Amino acid sequence: MATTDSTPEAALPQNDARGIRFEKVVKRFGDNVVLRELDFAVAPGERVTLIGPSGSGKTTILRLLMTLERVDDGVIWLGGDSLSHMERGGRLVPADEKHLRRLRSEIGMVFQQFNLFPNMSVLRNVTEAPVHVLKVPKSEAAERAGELLEMVGLADKADAHPSQLSGGQQQRVAIARALAMRPKVLLLDEVTSALDPELVGEVLDVLRQVAETTDITMLCVTHEMRFARDVSNRVLVFDKGQIVEEGSPEKIFTDPDHPRTQEFLRAVI
Ligand code: ADP
Repeated sequence: MATTDSTPEAALPQNDARGIRFEKVVKRFGDNVVLRELDFAVAPGERVTLIGPSGSGKTTILRLLMTLERVDDGVIWLGGDSLSHMERGGRLVPADEKHLRRLRSEIGMVFQQFNLFPNMSVLRNVTEAPVHVLKVPKSEAAERAGELLEMVGLADKADAHPSQLSGGQQQRVAIARALAMRPKVLLLDEVTSALDPELVGEVLDVLRQVAETTDITMLCVTHEMRFARDVSNRVLVFDKGQIVEEGSPEKIFTDPDHPRTQEFLRAVI
């Protein structure tokens, strides 16, 4: 982990808000250095989009935040908590499973492929984790799920099974399911890429609503300008595990400065 000039103790923020901060994060897979001393921060409640060529490390960033991967060096902060270390008796020690479970429960994730439980009703997809992980009473979880399904426009599909829904509807259920855990951070990995173009709008509408009506910090990986503009207020452009440019969605998508950004956008738009 990082030492000397960026000691975790010195970096501990004082409040409980859940921003994200990567400090000199290094991630390797064998000889492949995917992230090299990556530094960036997302303020509490901020909504940031990551774009960049395939293989530039975007998904790895989300997987590190979900603690599905561990950093090789550096520190990732979720608010005042490090994802690799925890405080015990005034000292920082390696994070244990309980610490990680608590932090993980504050982070929601929605994937490209929805990943709903196929054998459960829509309602049960949304109540399952609150009941079993957060130990919320079933009736309370069902009430909250009803509100969330209402919000994503699927109250009438509570008893349906995922296979009976369109891709756009399934993705809206996946969003409701993530929100049911009351996350402080929501990670979105290419959530519209698997959808037929005519279904993208309904998912964007829901995410725009989440962005406008909650203070959830959002980190999105997408190459869709409409998504970046509707949902986020800042875009970070990645290339080979480093940020080459950042700015508003408008600026990055219409008037990028960096040749790598221009090249990437020419290829995807
Ligand atoms: P992006 O999301 O920008 O397409 P990724 O984060 O998926 O990029 O991948 C970044 C690099 O890390 C790629 O070179 C990829 O091959 C490598 N990588 C990702 N996950 C693994 C893994 N589990 N094992 C080995 N290499 C991986």
